[in-house]
Amino acid sequence: MTAWEVQWRKGLFLPASGLWLDASHGVPRGVITHAHSDHIGRHQETICSEPTARLLHCRLSGHREVHILPYGQEEALTFDTTITLHPAGHILGSSMVHLRSEAGTLLYTGDFKLRQGLAAESCAPPRADVLIMETTFGLPKYVMPPEDEARAAIIRFCRESLADGRVPVLFCYSLGKTQEVLAALDPVGPPVMLHPSAMRLTRIYEQCGYRFPAFREFDPYMANGHVVICPPPHHGEGLLRHLPARRTALISGWALDSAATYRYRCDAAFPLSDHADFPDLLKLVELVQPKSIWTVHGFAREFAATLRERGWDALALGRENPLELPLTNPRSKIPS
Ligand SMILES: [Zn+2]
Repeated sequence: MTAWEVQWRKGLFLPASGLWLDASHGVPRGVITHAHSDHIGRHQETICSEPTARLLHCRLSGHREVHILPYGQEEALTFDTTITLHPAGHILGSSMVHLRSEAGTLLYTGDFKLRQGLAAESCAPPRADVLIMETTFGLPKYVMPPEDEARAAIIRFCRESLADGRVPVLFCYSLGKTQEVLAALDPVGPPVMLHPSAMRLTRIYEQCGYRFPAFREFDPYMANGHVVICPPPHHGEGLLRHLPARRTALISGWALDSAATYRYRCDAAFPLSDHADFPDLLKLVELVQPKSIWTVHGFAREFAATLRERGWDALALGRENPLELPLTNPRSKIPS
């Protein structure tokens, strides 16, 4: 049996099929696993799920050829390779990429989450011989609390802030986290305002069948009595300067870090993530049962070492961990 050849060049590249995965620059033919800005590029031909195509249309200007691939539908990529997308559970439309050829099967997870969110499809990873997985939270300390607990704490924070005469401001990225938190809020609770960058994206979720409590666009002069959802401070602070009576909270897996409130200059932090935590990274490997594993993003090198300790054939791949790449050969062969 031959081997899968994978190169890391601002995204993953499979030379045998001419396919890029999550390239951050324009390429002839690329899969975009989801519409977060660090995973998208202006490709000549884009392969993605239908919801991702809608979100891309909103986020990337210009015309492009988009090949929509429904979840679970296996299609020919080249004369000897097929491609299938599976839900990744990260945000609306997020996909895992499953390839099949004479080299066997390969699964690239993109960003994923095994726990069921309120605003994403259920993750359904298939088995594969080779697994390339994201490892954002690849250290044992990153264990998320039950999501119901985190959601209840966020609602309590909002109620208490309003009772104190302050506007609760929840720092959430515009795509994914905003909709996840919005869906968790009480439909008969206080009214909600969203940052302008999240308005159109949230409408796309509604077009795809998701239902949310009522919301309107953020207006600092009308915000009293509302819950405000906006991006973290380095993006959203300007809009908040007209809102002095506020309490702020970061909603992110990074809230598990003790310095989160200091780092993000907020009053509170709640660990609700759209990524797999450490136990779920391990669980994914058990579900996929790969013969070999490559890790990318976040604590890739550390998590690859953890996997090796547990008997798996695992290596880190990517910019973060150049020492694990062969120094004399920028190409790396993955045995199938
Ligand atoms: Zn993402």
